[in-house]
Amino acid sequence: MAEAEPTAAIEDLAQIRESVRALCGKFPGEYWRALDRERAYPTEFVTALTKAGFLAALIPEEYGGSGLSMTAAAAIMEEIQASGCNGAACHAQMYTMGTLLRHGSQAQKARWLPAIAAGELRLQAFGVTEPTSGSDTLNLRTTAVREGDHYIINGQKIWTSRAEHSDLLLLIARTTPRESAKTRTDGLSVFLVDMRLAQGTGITINPIRTMMNHPTTELFFDDLRVPAENLIGEEGQGFRYILSGMNAERILIAAECIGDAKWFIRKATDYAKERIVFGRPIGQNQGVQFPIARAYAQMRAGELMVHSAASLYEAGRECGAEANMAKLLAAEASWEAADMCLQTHGGFGFAEEFDIERKFRETRLYQTAPISTNLILSYLAEHVLGLPRSY
Ligand SMILES: Cc1cc2nc3c(=O)[nH]c(=O)nc-3n(C[C@H](O)[C@H](O)[C@H](O)COP(=O)(O)OP(=O)(O)OC[C@H]3O[C@@H](n4cnc5c(N)ncnc54)[C@H](O)[C@@H]3O)c2cc1C
Repeated sequence: MAEAEPTAAIEDLAQIRESVRALCGKFPGEYWRALDRERAYPTEFVTALTKAGFLAALIPEEYGGSGLSMTAAAAIMEEIQASGCNGAACHAQMYTMGTLLRHGSQAQKARWLPAIAAGELRLQAFGVTEPTSGSDTLNLRTTAVREGDHYIINGQKIWTSRAEHSDLLLLIARTTPRESAKTRTDGLSVFLVDMRLAQGTGITINPIRTMMNHPTTELFFDDLRVPAENLIGEEGQGFRYILSGMNAERILIAAECIGDAKWFIRKATDYAKERIVFGRPIGQNQGVQFPIARAYAQMRAGELMVHSAASLYEAGRECGAEANMAKLLAAEASWEAADMCLQTHGGFGFAEEFDIERKFRETRLYQTAPISTNLILSYLAEHVLGLPRSY
């Protein structure tokens, strides 16, 4: 399948893609199906990606990472999904550290980043969403109150993915009551919580079983003591710090959706060529061809926006609109491709052994997380088109 790549470093990207494909080839459909049935974590897969250094792609070389560009990181995530694997088990290890990298002190970076790059410390968990406030992040209720050289944390998070498979948690909590904060966006702070020390002494983790194999949880904080030295950046500025990290998250997850769409399109195309009904391949019928062709066009459009957002990001330019549009278009493309692939396979699409129903369930998530489609549309309406704020 033809791919549009930015002109820079085409050879390196080709090599990175090839290496990811080779690694993923060791984790075929049977591996994922067995885990899916049990809702079990793909430990071997995550270990292999970590050892190969792929999850440390965005960590600068001075901290032991590979110092690759966002374009290369996106290519890694795309290839994982296009190979039929599921990067959601570990994608946060790639981008969550960005908040620490951009806003942490020299001492914090020297303390944490080399161990994260080496895979000795897993920074896989990012606690933003709460059960009462949902998409309205500025209304979150978890509090962090300074007491001497600690902050005392109380509250609840929901949908904190990978918390059971992470050593560290990047947590956003309110340090100044909303009514006393200078602006709407002030008063939230970001902490790096060492969950190895905290479990049983302030954090309770409850897994949530979902429609796909995704290790997500709810967290309860009950007088959790976090050393003040684990505050990232300035107290009260945390919302700005996480917003800057969200562009990276959106670009990488959009790249995953492009990978999913490529997987579905390839599966559907192969099947449409070989399945004979009424004495001819089903792919000879335009009623079967056109949805595949449309899914391909939608995927390519989303892919261009992912590349555009990644290029702006790595040039240090503003990319909020592009990162959001990449996520919107790519998530829609992967979902359209999933539905098309299921339909192309007729009844066989519903059988576990074809992997389609599994990938179908997995890719549906990206209409909702890490930001739902409506919230992206609101962002574009307000911030790009200048329409009145709707909420
Ligand atoms: C499997 C899974 C993993 C996740 N992992 C993480 C994680 O690791 N860390 C984390 O912090 N969060 C995580 N999330 C949470 C995810 O980011 C949220 O579910 C998502 O942002 C939507 O928030 P909500 O579920 O509270 O929906 P709500 O905010 O309750 O919204 C419900 C629906 O209403 C719509 N809606 C709400 N307000 C408006 C409005 N003003 N205009 C138009 N439509 C509106 C939304 O678009 C949505 O469709 C995860 C979620 C899932 C399901």
